[in-house]
Amino acid sequence: MPVQVETHARLDDAVRACAQSANARFFGGGTLLMRAVNEGDQSFDRIIRCSDPVLREIRMDGNAISIGAGVTMLEVMENRDTAFLAPVARIVGGPAVRSAATIGGNLYADLPYGEMTTALLALGATIRFAGDAQGVSIDDFLRDRASRRNRVVQSISIPRVGDAANFRFVKVTRVKPKGAALMSIAAYLNRSSGSGGIRVAYGNMGPMPVRALAVERALEGASLDERGIARALEVATEGLEPPTDAFASSWYRREVAPVHLKRLLLGSGRA
Ligand SMILES: Cc1cc2nc3c(=O)[nH]c(=O)nc-3n(C[C@H](O)[C@H](O)[C@H](O)COP(=O)(O)OP(=O)(O)OC[C@H]3O[C@@H](n4cnc5c(N)ncnc54)[C@H](O)[C@@H]3O)c2cc1C
Repeated sequence: MPVQVETHARLDDAVRACAQSANARFFGGGTLLMRAVNEGDQSFDRIIRCSDPVLREIRMDGNAISIGAGVTMLEVMENRDTAFLAPVARIVGGPAVRSAATIGGNLYADLPYGEMTTALLALGATIRFAGDAQGVSIDDFLRDRASRRNRVVQSISIPRVGDAANFRFVKVTRVKPKGAALMSIAAYLNRSSGSGGIRVAYGNMGPMPVRALAVERALEGASLDERGIARALEVATEGLEPPTDAFASSWYRREVAPVHLKRLLLGSGRA
C-alpha cells in the first residue's frame, strides 16, 4: 500500500487532516516514522507534515518553559533555556538523528527508546494537544498514549529548573557511546516545593517510562547522602516489572537499578 505524504503550512490544517483518518500519522522528524515506512508497516497510509513555526518555539511561560513538539534534540542542546536538558538530548542517537528527532516524536517512541520522555516524566511535564486550551499531565498522557494516535501534540511544558543540580539523568548502555539504553533514570529533586517536589522516573523498566513512586516516597524529607538514600535504594524497583529483552534480563535490570540510582542521587561517578 503506497503511503501518501501531505504537507501543511498551518497547524490547524494538519490537525484536521490527522483527525480525519485513523490511518494518518503526524510527522515529527521522521526518524522512527520513515523507518516504519521502509519496513513496510501497514498500520498507516498517510503521513501529515507541518511547517508551522509554532511547533519550533521555545518560550518562557511564567515559571514554565514551553517547548514546541517539533523542537529537535539538537535545538534543545543549543537553547540556553533548555540547557539543563542537554545531557538527555545529547544521548539520543548520533548527530544525524539528533538534528531530526523531535521532542514530540520521542513521546511516542517505543522501547528501547524514549529517554527524553523519561526526563519529561521526572519533570512533571504537561502535554498540550493542538486545539486544546488545557494540557494533560504526562502521567495521564502516557497512560492513554495509544488511544491518542490521531491527535497532534503542539507543545510540552516543563518547570524552569533554577538550579541545574536539581535535575539528574543517566542513560545506562552496554555499547558506548550511543548504544540503546538498558535503562535510564531521571530525577527532579525540587526540595523547595515540599511534598511531591521529588519525582523519579525510569526508562526501559516497564513498557514505557514509569515513575519510581516508592523511591519518591522514600526520598521525601531525606538527605541526599548514603544514610538518607538507603531506604530509596532498598525500594528501587518496588512495584515495577522490568522487561527482558535483547539488552538485558528483567533480573539484571532489578539488580543494577539500585547501583545506578545510588550514583545518580549521590551525584558521584561510583556506586
Ligand atoms: C539510529 C537511531 C538511533 C536512535 N537512538 C535513540 C536514543 O538513543 N534514544 C531515544 O529516545 N530515541 C532514539 N531513537 C528514536 C528516535 O530518533 C527518537 O525517539 C525521536 O525523538 C523520535 O522523534 P521523531 O520526531 O523522529 O519521531 P517521528 O519518527 O516523526 O514519529 C514517531 C511517532 O511519533 C508521532 N509523532 C511525532 N510527532 C508528533 C506530534 N507532534 N504529535 C503527535 N504525534 C507525533 C508520529 O506520528 C509517530 O507515530 C533512535 C532512532 C534511530 C533511527
